[in-house]
Amino acid sequence: MQYETVIGLEVHAQLRTESKIFCGCSTRFGASPNQNTCPVCLGMPGQLPVLNEKVVEYAIRAALATGCSIAPVSVWARKNYFYPDLPKGYQISQYELPIAEHGSLNVEVDGKTSTIGITRIHMEEDAGKLVHDASLPVSYVDLNRAGVPLVEIVSEPDIRSPEEAAAYMKALRDILVYLEVCDGNLEEGSLRCDANVSLRPVGQEEFGTRTEVKNLNSFRNVARALEYEIRRQRAVLDEGGEVVQETRLWDAGSGKTSSMRGKEEAHDYRYFPDPDLLPLKVDSAWIERVKSGLPELPEAKRSRFVEQYGLPAYDAGVLCAEKAVAQFFEDAVEAGAPAKAASNLIMTDLPNALRGINKDLKDIGHGQITPEQLAEILKMAEAGTLSSKMVKEVLYETVISNKAPSQIVAERGLKQVSDTAELESILAAVFESSPKEVEQFKAGKQKLMGFFVGQVMKRTKGQANPKLVNELIRKMLG
Ligand code: ADP
Ligand code: MG
Ligand code: ZN
Repeated sequence: MQYETVIGLEVHAQLRTESKIFCGCSTRFGASPNQNTCPVCLGMPGQLPVLNEKVVEYAIRAALATGCSIAPVSVWARKNYFYPDLPKGYQISQYELPIAEHGSLNVEVDGKTSTIGITRIHMEEDAGKLVHDASLPVSYVDLNRAGVPLVEIVSEPDIRSPEEAAAYMKALRDILVYLEVCDGNLEEGSLRCDANVSLRPVGQEEFGTRTEVKNLNSFRNVARALEYEIRRQRAVLDEGGEVVQETRLWDAGSGKTSSMRGKEEAHDYRYFPDPDLLPLKVDSAWIERVKSGLPELPEAKRSRFVEQYGLPAYDAGVLCAEKAVAQFFEDAVEAGAPAKAASNLIMTDLPNALRGINKDLKDIGHGQITPEQLAEILKMAEAGTLSSKMVKEVLYETVISNKAPSQIVAERGLKQVSDTAELESILAAVFESSPKEVEQFKAGKQKLMGFFVGQVMKRTKGQANPKLVNELIRKMLG
């Protein structure tokens, strides 16, 4: 039997506000346990939540960037359950009336673009964290994360493969990072994903029974967990069995999912409107204000880079993955760097150079090299002053020393010899000292080209323009 995979993702993204959603506590990562807490986020009785306006603004940004409609009125709801990391006994979330609905996102896999529907976006508070100490029969509760703002972004069941699911999560991450509403640090848990997956016989309209896989915190794990789960469900179906609707937990170590709870044990959260919070009203003036402040998004930037700079789609994808890198590229071109040469350097040699000082491309723009310096190097290359080897050398030195490229060139005496007359006289001397090779070359032994170029390089300490030397050899011996 041939099956089609159906996937829908629920992505939780932590919003990068300075303070929590309903109190003034800091959201800083890495504070000592329970340092960032107060009576509100500790769930003390009688404490009232006060909504952080920035959270709403960030949710509106995310909603606009994914083409959602924004509800003029949305409602805060209590999602009731007991767990030690949730001192209030309920999580404040949105349920029947979320802030945004009906959006979509374009996702590209192997050059093929598909549009994935976004069902809804709602805001909620995060819970705390349990810390287990294997050597003691106790667990600790850290409530620093309790009350940290999140948006949950729920997709339609439009995704058809694990690769597409990973690409969707990546595209979503890139948008949220571009919007500066989420820092996108998956390692720190800033983006977490639950994946719903089912199989149906090809051609069947109706969806199959789904399972929900929890605990996916990297693009790779989303794809791996889904691949495992698809294989598992297919085996069940092929044996004539039925997939059980349940929540399963992904274990990255073993590469397997295991049953966490079935449908019967599913929570009844007894959602109801939170009496401590007024319905949230967002008027069109607010939406317009946020809209006018939206940055260019990754997809639009990529197409513009292809159009405006004549770059291959691949280059545009690499450069636009980080907003700061894209900006660096554009500033370098603005300062006179040829676009493709700048793109090549930024994609390959610059990351290598930065690795040498324990940095990567993400750190660009913090003083290692300016776009103007990169342009200066490439202009010297364009003028024939620097060979491609020298370009690398000057680039590395600029990153390490942060000296001006022109100063490095002067100090090292780097200067490509592109003077025709000078190279001709050097070649004449080379030919005179190697008459045998000249004869063989003239008789058709083309391989000797390398020998002559090598001789010229030796006499110029590697600074001859190799392209010009090649041309001159052909001309003089042709
Ligand atoms: P719940 O609230 O129980 O998680 P939802 O109806 O909100 O359920 O759906 C959650 C996610 O599951 C959504 O992303 C949706 O697209 C996806 N989904 C729903 N039905 C299926 C299905 N049969 N197969 C795969 N994914 C599904
Ligand atoms: Mg769910
Ligand atoms: Zn607090």
